[in-house]
Amino acid sequence: MTNREVGWNFDNTYVQLPTELFAKTNPTPVPDPELVILNKQLAESLGLDVQSLLEEGVEFFAGNQTPNGSSPIAQAYAGHQFGHFTMLGDGRAVLIGEQITPDGARYDIQLKGAGRTPYSRGGDGRAAIGPMLREYIISEAMHGLRIPTTRSLAVVTTGEPIYRETVLPGAILTRVASSHIRVGTFQFIAGLGKMDELRKLADYTIERHYPDIMDEEHRYLALLREVIQRQAGLIAKWQLVGFVHGVMNTDNMAISGETIDYGPCAFIDTYDPKTVFSSIDTGGRYAYGNQPYIGGWNLARFAESLLPLLHENEEEALQLAQKEITKYNGIYRENWLNGMRAKLGLFNQEEADNELIEEFLELMEQSQADYTNMFIALTFDQIDDLAICSADRFNNWHQKWKERQKRQKETAKDIKILMMNSNPAVIPRNHRVEEALGRALEGDYSVMGKLLEVLKDPFAHSEEQAEYAKIPEPSNTPYRTFCGT
Ligand code: AMP
Ligand code: MG
Repeated sequence: MTNREVGWNFDNTYVQLPTELFAKTNPTPVPDPELVILNKQLAESLGLDVQSLLEEGVEFFAGNQTPNGSSPIAQAYAGHQFGHFTMLGDGRAVLIGEQITPDGARYDIQLKGAGRTPYSRGGDGRAAIGPMLREYIISEAMHGLRIPTTRSLAVVTTGEPIYRETVLPGAILTRVASSHIRVGTFQFIAGLGKMDELRKLADYTIERHYPDIMDEEHRYLALLREVIQRQAGLIAKWQLVGFVHGVMNTDNMAISGETIDYGPCAFIDTYDPKTVFSSIDTGGRYAYGNQPYIGGWNLARFAESLLPLLHENEEEALQLAQKEITKYNGIYRENWLNGMRAKLGLFNQEEADNELIEEFLELMEQSQADYTNMFIALTFDQIDDLAICSADRFNNWHQKWKERQKRQKETAKDIKILMMNSNPAVIPRNHRVEEALGRALEGDYSVMGKLLEVLKDPFAHSEEQAEYAKIPEPSNTPYRTFCGT
């Protein structure tokens, strides 16, 4: 299979960076790979030929064959994991190369679960089928929800057993990202005390992700400012759809502003800021309502790693960084408020919107209302069907909201269109994801295929989607997710 047939067009700029930042590593071949899912649309947008991939792509997706022009590496990075600093690196992922698309865009093509690397520590370098399919479903759902994210190109099974608590089939996910540079990548090189190398990484990042600031006088400060903007915007989007990342360690925070590393993530059903899905997050550090705060904490770690580039005087560098970091809360809040306004059909801004929104959230929390469906009920004016506690208070709120909508020039039709565009009909509900994964493990991928289909455009509000909007049967055990092991 030649590059020309498949459409691979690799460039490898990351390997030109200082050698501390990566280790040349090939994927470890697997005995009996089988392609279980291919993202045809994504393949096409990357300039790849779907038919060739279906026929012969499996050897590539399994890491058994590396295309001409690729230069596989494992990337080095560090990270604060649940607040504790650790040196890490790709322990089970290999970056094959950077695909240049027909439009000239650059995307990392990474195989996750491709075998041991110099950064594997005690791990086996492998991944099980369940978590890889889970990442495929959730990342594609996020893309459908118009939230910046890494994408999933394919999943293959390897034919090898994986030893966890039980024996599971091994799998590899092909992940596509605008890059895999993390807050932890900066922490890694800064932690080694390598200043020239830190500058090279920062320059590379600016050129790749923030070319507009390249000529700014204080471009490293501008880099900090831009990353704060993107992360604040990203986390606001998570909150607005009820997404819980689950493991917001600094190594899982991409400098590009894409959502990365789908481990124990899930979407909330009932509205509760304290929601935690991850079995290991016993302290609730990464609870739904805590995510905006953690975003700020992580960005402060990013700022710290940039300090030597901000000013030669340590004190001045610190002051410059602090000035930017303190803006994060306001930027986040503004993004979130504007998103909430759109969800409630508000085009213009009023001072008291904040209060109106907070009161609504409080009512939802008290009533343990389903977050997604509540907004859908408002969008389609189906509030009579809602089981809301303190009906008087809700009616009162509802009236205030309707009056507020009238204080803008847009028509009822405009308002409905805005709300339909801002409130998804479907999210990947936990029970649906589990059902799809369960069936996939039995070899039936049709349930997952259907789920992926309805998640493609959650703002279509089709009849089929209504079926997927149903909330799970009440259960005595809260939903639990486990790290992507
Ligand atoms: P995560 O929690 O998935 O972001 O992973 C944290 C770190 O553990 C990263 O450096 C991973 O590469 C590494 N890691 C996770 N699972 C494995 C594994 N099975 N083998 C080797 N390294 C792993
Ligand atoms: Mg990670």
